[in-house]
Amino acid sequence: MTQGAILEPRRVPLGGLRAIDVWRTLPHRDLPTIGAWCFVDHFGPTDDGMQVLPHPHTGLQTVTWPIAGNVQHRDSLGNEVILRPGELNLMTAGQGISHSEFSVGGGDMHGIQLWVALPDGARVGPGSFEHIDDLPRASGDGWDGIVLVGEFASQRSAAEVHSPLVGAEVRVQGGRAVLPLDPTFEHGLLAVTGAVRIIPHSRGSREVPPGELVAHRHLKYLPTGETSVVVETDDPVTLVVIGGEPFTEPLVMWWNFVGRTHDDIVAAREDWEAQTERFGHVDGHDGRVIPAPPMPALRLKPRTRQR
Ligand code: MN
Repeated sequence: MTQGAILEPRRVPLGGLRAIDVWRTLPHRDLPTIGAWCFVDHFGPTDDGMQVLPHPHTGLQTVTWPIAGNVQHRDSLGNEVILRPGELNLMTAGQGISHSEFSVGGGDMHGIQLWVALPDGARVGPGSFEHIDDLPRASGDGWDGIVLVGEFASQRSAAEVHSPLVGAEVRVQGGRAVLPLDPTFEHGLLAVTGAVRIIPHSRGSREVPPGELVAHRHLKYLPTGETSVVVETDDPVTLVVIGGEPFTEPLVMWWNFVGRTHDDIVAAREDWEAQTERFGHVDGHDGRVIPAPPMPALRLKPRTRQR
C-alpha cells in the first residue's frame, strides 16, 4: 500500500429483507486490514431503519458506534441493550456468537460499524459483550474526541481488546488540528461528515507538504512511522481514527465470519445453517434468522499482510 493512499467506499446492501445500505472502505482489494481492523462500514444518515435479524459471527469483535439514532442489540448471551449516540457496543465473537440489531425510537440512523480481527487464542475463546456509556474524552490542538478502544492522546478506553490498536472519534471545529499518532501503528482516518485535507506530518520535518483532500466517506491510510497528522477543514467535521500494529496472521473473511482457512469458514457456515449450540439463540425474533449465502465455488484463500 503506497504512502498517502485513499480508499474509496463501495456501497453494499446489509441485512435481510429490509436492507440498509452501507459504505464500506475495508477490506479493500489493496489492503485487507489496518492494524487488526478488518472491516469499516459507514451507514446513513438515512431514514431507513436498521433491521438486521439474528446472524452469526466468529473470530472478530464488532464495534458499533451510532452518531444518530438508537439501536436495540440482542445477542445469544442474553444481552439486550439500547445503544445511543455517545455509547459503544463491543461484541467479542470468539468461536461463535449471534446477535440482532434493530433501529428503535425513530429518526435518522447514522453510524459506524467496525470489525477487529481477533488474534489466535482469543479467536477460539468464549464470546462476550460490553456496553460502555462512559468512554474517556480526549482533546488536543484544534480537536476534541472520544476514545472508543485502546489509547489515544494519553486517554485509554476500558473496552477489552486483544491486540495493540486504537479507535477514536475526533471532531474538528474548523481550521487546523494536529492529531497525535503512535508511530508503531498504521492508521486510517475516515471522513464521517464532510471532507478534510490531511497532511502526514512527522519524522521531525519542518516542511509541511500540501496534503490531500479526503472526500466524505473516504478512508485515508497512513503507514507506520507517523507521529502526528494535520487535519485542515473549513467546516466542522467528524473523523474516525483507527490504527494498530500491522496484523500479520492470515485471515479468511467471508460473510460474517473471520477464520484462518477455507475449512474454518465452511464449518462455521454449516454450524449456523444447522443452528447448533455454537451460535446460541437470540430471543425475540420468533426463530427467524438470516440464512448464510451459499459458499463460493472456489476455495477461499487467506490474505496475509507483509510487515
Ligand atoms: Mn453483526
